[in-house]
Amino acid sequence: MFGKLRNLWGGGAAGSGFATVRPVPGEDGVPYAGPLIELAGISKIFLVDDVQTHALRDVNFEVARGEFVAVNGPSGSGKTTLLSICGLLEAPSEGAYVLNGHDVSHLPAASRAAVRNREVGFIFQSFNLIGDLTVFENVELPLTYLGLPAAERRDRVAAALERVEMADRARQMPSQLSGGQQQRVAVARAVVGDPQIILADEPTGNLNSRQAETVIAMLCELHDSGATILLVTHDPRWKQVVQRSVELFDGTIVA
Ligand code: ADP
Ligand code: MG
Repeated sequence: MFGKLRNLWGGGAAGSGFATVRPVPGEDGVPYAGPLIELAGISKIFLVDDVQTHALRDVNFEVARGEFVAVNGPSGSGKTTLLSICGLLEAPSEGAYVLNGHDVSHLPAASRAAVRNREVGFIFQSFNLIGDLTVFENVELPLTYLGLPAAERRDRVAAALERVEMADRARQMPSQLSGGQQQRVAVARAVVGDPQIILADEPTGNLNSRQAETVIAMLCELHDSGATILLVTHDPRWKQVVQRSVELFDGTIVA
């Protein structure tokens, strides 16, 4: 069961052939001024047992660097698929994905994984911590795949756990923590590699109201420090914390 999860970071640790999503000067000496994320005419079709599902249909979607955007819509409308494509977990069936000015629509899987490892942090509704690893090891996992040396990994994990106020739980197993604590560890894991993009898929869906507020406050803090964030949520309370909302219905952005 955890194999798939480990694949989030697996593969492609070496050079990807992809420049960067960081705001570095381009060939003309000026950083890329366009959107960080630019989806044009994106469709995603899943084929299972001869049944085609159009999870996304002709989606056009742009996110500026440093934006905090909510993605809303009923169950099955394509929210998770949209995040998976933005986070390079899935490749689109049709259309173009331009990330920081680079076309990543047709990157080979290993290069997609390398970009994802460096630049994307995922937070899920079900926390998705790996049950047979300690809190420390869970947060360390993305850094292991980035190939960082042990001493640097230790320092970064300690800092990330400090940031979510879970430093004293480093040796515990996920099953010994409350849901709110597990999600804080998941936030630490998402940010430990200092990604530019945070994708949070219903991160408060399994939390009580107070725990949810803590996690959203953490996202706001990350946003304040420069991260670009996509937040899938059903909770109307968070409409005020984001800068913009988009609404998906049946695989299409309707508002
Ligand atoms: P949401 O997150 O809004 O609930 P999803 O993006 O998960 O929606 O799913 C959109 C549609 O695509 C649904 O009909 C879902 O069943 C289908 N779908 C999503 N992922 C897969 C997959 N890996 N294989 C087959 N169908 C999928
Ligand atoms: Mg979903």
